[in-house]
Amino acid sequence: MEISFVGKRALVTGAGKGIGRATALALARCGAKVTAVTRTQADLSSLVQECASIIPVCVDLADWGATEAALLDVGPIDLLVNNAAYASLQPFLEVTPDQFDESFSVNVKAVLHVSQIVARGMKATGSGGAIVNVSSQASQCALRDHTVYCATKGALDMMTKVMALELGPHQIRVNSVNPTVVMTDMGRLGWSDPDKAETMLSRIPLGRFAEVEDVVNTILFLLSDKSNMTSGVTLLVDGGFLAC
Ligand code: NDP
Repeated sequence: MEISFVGKRALVTGAGKGIGRATALALARCGAKVTAVTRTQADLSSLVQECASIIPVCVDLADWGATEAALLDVGPIDLLVNNAAYASLQPFLEVTPDQFDESFSVNVKAVLHVSQIVARGMKATGSGGAIVNVSSQASQCALRDHTVYCATKGALDMMTKVMALELGPHQIRVNSVNPTVVMTDMGRLGWSDPDKAETMLSRIPLGRFAEVEDVVNTILFLLSDKSNMTSGVTLLVDGGFLAC
């Protein structure tokens, strides 16, 4: 299946590392003009070195005002990937207000904000668009020490559906991808302990974690016109984990 984004403008958040970085590079390879948003300048510098056409934007998405200023001149966008997220793991009884606020401000509030900025532009140009929110299997399944992370991704799934409802009339499709574990920096945080990893792996029918490419390919599909009639879905990339 050939996917082309020639002539499209894309914005990817959390594009410095992991899934976001690979998504930004894949979109550029498919012909999109990509704006990469993340908070570590060194990551942006190496990304632009790898792909000179990428436009870098350095901002902490937890900061509402700074995000507003940073995206002021971003121009019309056709494809948005809300990928940036923060994970901090702790037992339920030890969750602090700061951990809660930090997680919700990046994983949920920043998605709302960046999507508002981009969707207003899509509405104004009248040419529609596609938004993919990077959620998780954790939105639908209790995982030990993941109280806040699970809660943010559950909220994100519901926000995806309401966005699909309200933005649909403007021909803006909104979907989420919900991966199982991927061994990025974030994945290693929760699953590098071999015992924990084995417990999770034993519950995945395909018997492996997802690769970054598995997630990127699903994002590209949901951004592309190959999924023209799909909106409001949470598309699992979990090797069957949630089916059992
Ligand atoms: P990584 O930690 O590898 O990368 C996350 C990226 O987001 C980094 O570039 C990070 O920048 C950036 N980011 C985080 N917070 C902010 C912020 N406040 N402002 C701007 N940029 C920020 O994560 P993954 O690639 O693993 O995860 C990508 C997405 O996939 C997330 O939404 C995650 O929840 C989801 N996911 C991941 C899974 C996994 O097992 N890895 C499983 C299921 C879902 P910096 O490094 O500078 O902080």
